[in-house]
Amino acid sequence: MENNVSMEQIISLCKRRGFIYQGSEIYGGLAGTWDYGPLGVALKRNIEQLWWKRFVLDREDMYGMDAAILMNPQAWVASGHVAGFSDPLVEDLKTQKRYRADHMLEAANIDTKGISLADMDAAIKAHKILSPDGNAFGDVRQFNMMLQTSLGAIQDDSSITYLRPETAGGMFVNFKNVLDSFSPKLPFGMAQIGKAFRNEIAPRDFIFRVRELEQMEIEYFVAPDTWAENFEKFRKEVWSFTQDIGLTQDAVHELEVADEDRAHYSKRTIDFEFDFPFGRKELYGLAYRTDYDLKKHSEASGTELAYFDEETKTRFIPHVIEPSFGVGRTLLALLTSAYKEVQDEKGETRTYLAFPSAVAPYRACVSPLLKNKPELITKAREVFTMLKKQFGNIAYDDNGNIGKRYRRQDEIGTPWCIVVDFDTLGENPDLLDTVTIRNRDTGAQERVVIQDIVKYIQQ
Ligand code: ATP
Repeated sequence: MENNVSMEQIISLCKRRGFIYQGSEIYGGLAGTWDYGPLGVALKRNIEQLWWKRFVLDREDMYGMDAAILMNPQAWVASGHVAGFSDPLVEDLKTQKRYRADHMLEAANIDTKGISLADMDAAIKAHKILSPDGNAFGDVRQFNMMLQTSLGAIQDDSSITYLRPETAGGMFVNFKNVLDSFSPKLPFGMAQIGKAFRNEIAPRDFIFRVRELEQMEIEYFVAPDTWAENFEKFRKEVWSFTQDIGLTQDAVHELEVADEDRAHYSKRTIDFEFDFPFGRKELYGLAYRTDYDLKKHSEASGTELAYFDEETKTRFIPHVIEPSFGVGRTLLALLTSAYKEVQDEKGETRTYLAFPSAVAPYRACVSPLLKNKPELITKAREVFTMLKKQFGNIAYDDNGNIGKRYRRQDEIGTPWCIVVDFDTLGENPDLLDTVTIRNRDTGAQERVVIQDIVKYIQQ
């Protein structure tokens, strides 16, 4: 199912309303970077909190981590990233602009599944595919996406290290630490939310493909003969998470990744794809990584990363199931799912973001009906303070007229607008200490006693 919203609508709303700005915008930007503004960070944190609750807090078999972004470079040699974390690159021979070779082929409707580098090169030449500027391409070659940096005052080969390209590495190297500190029994997992960096050849599609990204990842360690059942469990968990945060379920699809397209370490991978405005693309990955990583790190570090099973008195390297979630792609899928336009009774277009309450930047907004009546303001501030203590993310808005405030809150996805009016103060004695609460999605209003507001908006 394609959602009708366009990327232009999403990007413009994100900028206008303070969700996401172009990175370093006043300097002309920096490709592949975006800055999250006040509402974007609120949305992002809510997504991360829901994820952490589901996968860490609500479980007994998960250990949270926050490993350093900078790691000993040997770890990335062992994992295979230094040698092989690359994408196919082609260069426009005239402008020297660089592109992903597979993306150029896909744009020309040429299937790239399982295709080798040499075949990509041959296909670009055979089909005479030109760059977006209409020029010929050079040869296709591999481009390593690891972002390098150097540590310390002296810059030579020995000071080179990398900004991690995925959070996973930090968990594998801490496997033994967690085992020693907590003596968990298999199966158990490690979970982490954090930044990762990829020198993407062609960052594009807003926050979909960026160079500085954020991931929510789990490495779930299992006995080798139980990998399939644990894979299935996480498959269901991924679906439940997409539902929890409010992604349009019809827009989420599974793609069984073919043998020849899987990462070198994986024996089975399902990509969860989403119908973004620019097409169906990867949202999350679920991979069976076998014992590849622990084995490689054991060999390279000389530290045995094995598990001793008390019952069977055997020692072995556990296998790994890895669900990997991109925070930015979740946020973009959420914006795509939530964006609605309806005609109001006057025939005007009303735009709103239908976020579930748990992810909306603001849970509710409180307003006085008029902003020049001190008695209304005093009461509205009272209601606001009471709700803010309870929920934290409550807005107070007395700018412009009430219609404008509703529009503003609709556009940022605030589920409830609460208005203090003269009836609240007892102009109609029957309505003393009641407020109106307006529903974002239907526009319907109800009168609710102030004491009951918390219960009302919690439901
Ligand atoms: P793609 O094929 O789109 O480049 P990938 O297969 O390389 O993605 P993984 O290495 O499986 O991605 O990374 C796990 C998750 O991290 C992805 O499913 C996605 O949500 C997120 N992710 C990866 N690369 C990026 C990026 N450049 N920008 C934003 N999110 C990303």
